[in-house]
Amino acid sequence: MPGIVATGVSGICGYAFLATSADAQRVAGALLGTALFLPVACLIAGIGAVVRAGFTERERAARELASALHLRDQFIATASHELRTPLTSLSLTVQQMKRGPRVEHTSSAERRIQALQRQTERLARLVNGLLDVSTIVEGRLRLHVERFDLSEAVRTAAEAYEEDSAHAGNTLVVDAPPGIVGEWDRLRVEQIVGNLISNAVKYGRGRPIHVSVRAGNGNALIVVKDEGIGIPRQDQDRIFQRFERVERGPGYSGFGLGLWIVREFAAAMDGTVRVESEAEHGAAFTVVLPRRDSTGQVD
Ligand code: ADP
Repeated sequence: MPGIVATGVSGICGYAFLATSADAQRVAGALLGTALFLPVACLIAGIGAVVRAGFTERERAARELASALHLRDQFIATASHELRTPLTSLSLTVQQMKRGPRVEHTSSAERRIQALQRQTERLARLVNGLLDVSTIVEGRLRLHVERFDLSEAVRTAAEAYEEDSAHAGNTLVVDAPPGIVGEWDRLRVEQIVGNLISNAVKYGRGRPIHVSVRAGNGNALIVVKDEGIGIPRQDQDRIFQRFERVERGPGYSGFGLGLWIVREFAAAMDGTVRVESEAEHGAAFTVVLPRRDSTGQVD
């Protein structure tokens, strides 16, 4: 609007100035020039104003989105910290109950304690996952690199999901030959494998899950393969992004964070993760980790 007014005023001023001339031809020319200039200039100024308004609106929407994302990250960080304290004491209580005098435990009490333990562990994994999100988003991810046997770490991670997978009816088959030694962050490797197995259990339709570890070309490969619902081709890239999910109905809930965490942890160790899958024909996730080994003993 100010642009249109300014254009109008300058057009009228220009005409008034030329109209004072004694030359009738110049006055007629000024009139024609002003008559052409005013609508064209007003049109251009109007278009400019509309485009500028569009930009301002987009900038405002981008600012609002950035602030909403920041709020979400802050909420996740606060919620996960707040949840961790009661969860830690709950886990301790469950462990004490498990270790308590056996005579008092009937088999049904024993079963309930086991169920309680399983749910507490699941809750702890969820909360730890949310804490990991904050760690990554805030750029606080630090690796604790040590030398260890990858197969051992993969077996440890798989054992933690044995009950869950048995509960879901999956058989968990681990093929991890010993001796694949390298230098990585053991806890992060276990979390990578845990997240992939947890997904295989969730989306695996109760069919067998195969976990394997191999070495070659200076890399270590971890493959987690299931025979479940699979992932449509068009969704296979985006599922590694934060909060990205393929909606599959109420039986398959989740935050859409597991694979993003896998990718971030793998990348922190200079590794990659990829998926091969077809809808309804299972999924195979492959994590490739370079074998960093300061002793130089890498095949
Ligand atoms: P979540 O499982 O909480 O949704 P993830 O980041 O772990 O989050 O996975 C993102 C999406 O990728 C899931 O919503 C699911 O659609 C798909 N997905 C992951 N793993 C599998 C799998 N093994 N089989 C089929 N779909 C999978």
